[in-house]
Order: sequence, then C-alpha cells, then structure tokens
Amino acid sequence: MTDREPGFETLAIHAGQDPDPTTGAVLPPIHLATTYRQSAAGQHQGFEYSRSGNPTRRSLEIQLAQLEGAGFGFAFASGLAAEDALLRALLGPGDHLLLNTDAYGGTFRLVDKVHAPTGIAYDIADASDLDALAASWRESTKVVWVETPSNPLLGIVDIRLVAEFTHARGARLVVDNTFATPYLQRPILLGADAVVHSTTKYLGGHSDVVGGFTAVSDPHLAERIAFLENATGAVPSPLDCYLVQRGIKTLAVRMDRHCRNAAAVAGFLEDHPMVARVLYPGLAGHPGHEIAQRQMRDFGGMVSFLHAGGEAAAVEMVRRTKIFALAESLGAVESLLEHPARMTHAAAAESRLAVDPHLVRLSVGLELVDDLIADLDQALDAPAQPGGLTTAVGAGPRG
Ligand SMILES: *Cc1c(COP(=O)(O)O)cnc(C)c1O
Repeated sequence: MTDREPGFETLAIHAGQDPDPTTGAVLPPIHLATTYRQSAAGQHQGFEYSRSGNPTRRSLEIQLAQLEGAGFGFAFASGLAAEDALLRALLGPGDHLLLNTDAYGGTFRLVDKVHAPTGIAYDIADASDLDALAASWRESTKVVWVETPSNPLLGIVDIRLVAEFTHARGARLVVDNTFATPYLQRPILLGADAVVHSTTKYLGGHSDVVGGFTAVSDPHLAERIAFLENATGAVPSPLDCYLVQRGIKTLAVRMDRHCRNAAAVAGFLEDHPMVARVLYPGLAGHPGHEIAQRQMRDFGGMVSFLHAGGEAAAVEMVRRTKIFALAESLGAVESLLEHPARMTHAAAAESRLAVDPHLVRLSVGLELVDDLIADLDQALDAPAQPGGLTTAVGAGPRG
C-alpha cells in the first residue's frame, strides 16, 4: 500500500471487506449466527446477539460510513426504518421539524402519521429558499430534513448553505442521499449532520434487497441511534447486508452509466412534442443546475417529466413502454417508470407534497440507451385514447 488516500472506487471495494483471516477467502463470510459464545459471563469479542450487532452488518456499516465520509454508520431493515430511528434520535415531544416541499411520500407519511401524533410538530417549507425556511422557523425547530435531488421533482437544495443556516439557529440538517448516492454527493462533507439512505435503490442496485442506512459523525448521536436500533430492532438480515455490500462494490461504474443514459434520455425528452417540461438537474435550464454542478459529481439517473397531454395521457404512456417496467422503486440496473401521483406519492395526496398528475418519473437503467429512447418514443407517440388528453398542463394540485 502507498501513502495515498484511497479513492472512492477503492474504498467501495475494500473498506470493511477484509479477507477472512482463518481461510484466506477474499470475501468476509456471511455471518448467519444469531449469538456468540462468551469466554466468561459478559466477556465476548464485540458481538453478543445479532440484533445488537452482527459482523456482516458491521462490515457494511464500515464500508458505507467511509464512503459517506462519516464517523458512524447504521444499517437498517429499510430506508423508512433508518428514517424512523433518526427522527426518534433527533426529536422529542414539543420539538419542531421542517420538511422540504418535495420528499418521498413514505417520509411524509412517517412524519405526518407516526411522529406528529406523538407530539412532534412539523411544517413543510421550500429549503431551496432561505427566506421560506426562516419564515417557517420556530423556537422549537430542531431539524431540517431535505432530499437533494428530491423525489420525484428532482429539486436541488444547496447543502452547504442550508447547513450553515440551520447550524446558526442551533438545529441539525438531515439529507436523504438516496438519489445521489455517496459516489455523486457527500452531504456530511458539505456540513450535513446526518445522511439517510434507502439502500433498496442505487446502493443495492439490482432490485433484490430492501434496506436502509444512516450515517452521522457526532458520537452522541451515534450512540443514541445504536441504542434505538437495538431497542426497537429494525435490523437487516446478514444476507441482505451482503447483497447491499456487493451492490456498493460496483456503484461507481453503475452510476457513471446511469448518469450518461439519463442525460441522453433527458435530451431526447426535451425535444419531444408530447413532453411539456423535463425535470433533470443536468439540464442547463433546471433551476438547481449550478448548485448541482457544484455539489455533485454528476447529475444522477433519475429523470421526471410533465406529459403535455395531461393526466390520462401520462397514465396511458406509462402502460405502453416495453423495456421500462411500470413499477415503484428506482436505482436498479433495469429501467423503471411510474406515475407518482397514483403510485409512490399517493400517500401525499391532499397535502402540500401532492404531485402533479401529469408527472412521469423515470429511473433510467443500464440497458443500451438507444433502446431506451426508442421505447419512450413509441410510448409517447401512442394515439389518444377516447376521453383522454383532456386535462391541461398546470391544472394539477401544485398549480
Ligand atoms: C425509497 C425511498 C425511501 C424509503 O426507503 P425504503 O427502503 O423503501 O423504506 C426514502 N427516501 C427516498 C428518497 C426513497 O426513494
């Protein structure tokens, strides 16, 4: 080894992945054991029971925490389980949370239906506008929670700016880094206090594992999260941890191609007459383009667009693709598309986070991009359905 600091790709493959010392196997084994033999009562080698800690989970936690530039990492059974632990660790009854105007529907539901009833107040505010954040700020505000790029509108928040603003008021910033992944963006290094992931998405990367993760650098916060993970028990299985670890090893090469394919798809959609507007931070006309250029390595694999034909046309279009599968989730090798208002964000209907029904969200996969573009082209050129094409652009709940 040299004195060089290892780069991202090297850490992704080696951090926490030491070969097995007893056999030389180049991969650490998957530890299925639930319990660990002690040499005397209370004397063990760091593991007692696999809810409180498991070596396979531990090696994933070391790997992903290092990639995020964080001191501590915790793997959970799902992204929402990780979010739940983080919310409990950061907030108590009487505290106030500011949630960005665009967020995953399940995050909104967790805050609105699970945490708000326990006495945690929240408001929705546009974190890309510091005046809007200041206007919603309360004495009791403890946390600002943002996604950037956001789901499903691909909005961009200036992490460094919002971290400074939040810290000046004595609160903490959480960034959901699911869309970017640490390969494209490292929020902790930009000043965020905590990062949260659905590892179900790009980190796993193959639509075969549900998981979550949170990374922090404050040891007190880390201790609280470790306590909550053990006390509430939403831990991932060793096999699931292994799948996420394996996915992370190819993250850099996958993300490079996701970004390249998504940029080509966004360019194609921009010129298509049935597309009213493309939402992709890589486009020069995107309101967050310059911030994204500054804080991200590249612009990611997610592209959303507003169908020019209205809701019925958008719903018809997502039914007609042959390579893009009509499905929830994102970030895997295969291309997926969905209608957020009726699918992933149905939980946010009737709220300020409700999504325009003309919106279509694409998770651009790793197939040959010419095939993906041809597929979208044939689906967009679908003839109008009787009774379809009636809603005008801009008539959705977001106005
Ligand atoms: C999917 C998703 C989540 C929730 O993660 P699960 O693994 O489904 O529980 C949270 N945030 C974002 C941005 C997501 O896309």
